[in-house]
Amino acid sequence: MSKSIFSKIANLSLIINCFNKLIAVVLMLFMVSITDAQNFNRKIWNIPNIPGFITLKADLHMHTVFSDGTVWPSFRVEEAWSEGFDVIAITDHLGHHYKNNVDDDNFNRNYEIAKPIADKLGLILIKGTEITKRMPYGHFNALFLTDLHKVDKEDYFDALKAAAEQDAFITWNHPGWKQENDIPIWDSIHENIYKSGLMNGIEIVNKNYYYPLAFSWANAKNITLMSGSDIHDPATAEFDYLSGEHRPMTLIFSKDTSLVEIKNALLQKRTILYYNDILFGNNELLTSLFNASINIQNAEFTIDADSKDNYYNYIRIENKSCFDFDLELAEKDNILIVTDKILLKANTISIINLKPAPRDIKGEKEYVLKYKVKNLLKAPDDNIIVDFPIKITFI
Ligand SMILES: [Zn+2]
Ligand SMILES: [Zn+2]
Repeated sequence: MSKSIFSKIANLSLIINCFNKLIAVVLMLFMVSITDAQNFNRKIWNIPNIPGFITLKADLHMHTVFSDGTVWPSFRVEEAWSEGFDVIAITDHLGHHYKNNVDDDNFNRNYEIAKPIADKLGLILIKGTEITKRMPYGHFNALFLTDLHKVDKEDYFDALKAAAEQDAFITWNHPGWKQENDIPIWDSIHENIYKSGLMNGIEIVNKNYYYPLAFSWANAKNITLMSGSDIHDPATAEFDYLSGEHRPMTLIFSKDTSLVEIKNALLQKRTILYYNDILFGNNELLTSLFNASINIQNAEFTIDADSKDNYYNYIRIENKSCFDFDLELAEKDNILIVTDKILLKANTISIINLKPAPRDIKGEKEYVLKYKVKNLLKAPDDNIIVDFPIKITFI
């Protein structure tokens, strides 16, 4: 009997033990589900589309542990999505000769890890690599590749040609790197690469370096303007986000979000670079982006020269974008006196005050106020000029 009691007690303790274990497992599962649930946000940039094209925010130059970076590929995806990017490329240095922090022989692995996560977040991931050769060749990003192994060649020219065989878009990175005062040098090697059609783009901005000479080359030689963060650590460790700094952003004006059209946009030089409150691009794209960003709320005035109120004429300009536009009057008019310096702050309505100079004018007149936008550069030291057409009826 006592045996049976012991047996019952033993069974009971077994049941209690099992029950405890079950509770422990349920609790663990619950805890796992809590700790695994991620909660991160995405920044929204108010950057408008322009007529005919959508505006995609890209960073096409970054590293992971699959070369000399410190983060895992999935981190790059979540980080870029969170910072509001639409398109990225992970461009780890290529080849066995280069330090690879994970000792993996599959050069496509970084992309294979990042792609499913990018798909789930709706981030566009371009497969690419940084072809890394000693100076004076420098570094080149090859984007839209299918297989990185086929590009891993000892000779720089063979590597670039192998990338071109995969219809890659090729960019000369940080052209002033390792040069005196960071001033780039266009070597005969680069001339050869360019003449062979193997330099589609050039970085004007890399990390927090700006290369005005490369900007001039790009304009003169019809090369696509590019920028890249070239981050190796978490972006927040390389840029001062708390003080409002952000990593360089390449705005790509594409017909749609397909890789084919994004590559077409790059080949057709439809980019603007955004860094440190400055936008770098060609005149047409910068003007389109400016015009898409602002809305002139009132452009018609009736001015009575004899009225005391004839100085209170305000052109209200709404800036719907995240960019501040720093304006300075480009041409003075001898009939109108207008505000000569205006900062069209992001998400703000600003005014231009319009005063008629004392003259005896009557009737309807049309004017175009011309302003230089100091932080919209179409070339080094050359700004775009924007127009504000207005109509005044003098009575
Ligand atoms: Zn590099
Ligand atoms: Zn790099």
